[in-house]
Amino acid sequence: MKHSNVMLAGLSALLLAACSANTPETAPPEPVESDEPAPPAEETLAGPFAAAFPAWYEPAEPFRVIGNIYHVGPKGLGIFFIPTEDGHILIDGGLPENADGVLNNIRALGHDPRDVKYLLNTHAHFDHSGGLARLKAATGAALISSEGDRSALEGGFYLGFEDRPEFNAPPVKVDATLGDRGTVGVGGTVLTALLTPGHTRGCTSWRLTVEEAGTPYEVLIFCSASVAANRLAPDPQYEGIIADYESTFERARGWQPDVFLANHPEFSGLWQKRAAQLDGDALAFVDRDAFPAYMSRMEQGFREQLAKQTSEE
Ligand SMILES: [Zn+2]
Repeated sequence: MKHSNVMLAGLSALLLAACSANTPETAPPEPVESDEPAPPAEETLAGPFAAAFPAWYEPAEPFRVIGNIYHVGPKGLGIFFIPTEDGHILIDGGLPENADGVLNNIRALGHDPRDVKYLLNTHAHFDHSGGLARLKAATGAALISSEGDRSALEGGFYLGFEDRPEFNAPPVKVDATLGDRGTVGVGGTVLTALLTPGHTRGCTSWRLTVEEAGTPYEVLIFCSASVAANRLAPDPQYEGIIADYESTFERARGWQPDVFLANHPEFSGLWQKRAAQLDGDALAFVDRDAFPAYMSRMEQGFREQLAKQTSEE
């Protein structure tokens, strides 16, 4: 039943594991107490991609986006924390170097990282999955992923770049997989997995409804639809990648979430909206034009790359 919808609210990690046909019935690791001091917030970390992407290593103060969604990532990577009374959800792990900063940001918000119950991932690329192993060990949370990205998470590789060790990530055990429209729920917050493959084979976007000042808002934490380093043709990153991108563009055409969030802040204008929020706009993140505009840029980029890569064949 690995592709069936799984309602995870209130289920034990054992039951979670049992819901995934390919996952041995083992409990997640015992929470590990971290005594390691995290770096001071003003200090930019060192790392292999720091020259090209310094913002990935630049710590940022955590803040509330809307409802019970908080940003806990560094300046250049979107990582989202959703606390509830019955346990918390964390979406994405950033780079390995980001994990301690994420844990510290969760503590700074007044929460115990060991109360994180579910660890989710948008996609198995090192800049979003690299920190998951460390975060899983520190929180004891169950890691939920799509079946399409499971092998890359567990193998610690970038699908289609198995020969590029610089793109590896620390391998991390997946406790359960979710199919399209599968849900993860805790403490009254329910996230729905929407499979939006292409950028990776199991690229997963997460939809939820939050309440702000008594009004519900639909939030989409989108995986990605950029081509980035992906090979489309003639030797595709993975079999079926072009059809996957096409199906994702087709599927998402009618989507117009109230709030669009992304794992790369520049995709959704996260910091511009944060500045507006600090200026007093409590609904700065409500922007129904943002996602359609982003997707039309992504689709245009995909068409250009497809034409280019195909003509080079
Ligand atoms: Zn990626």
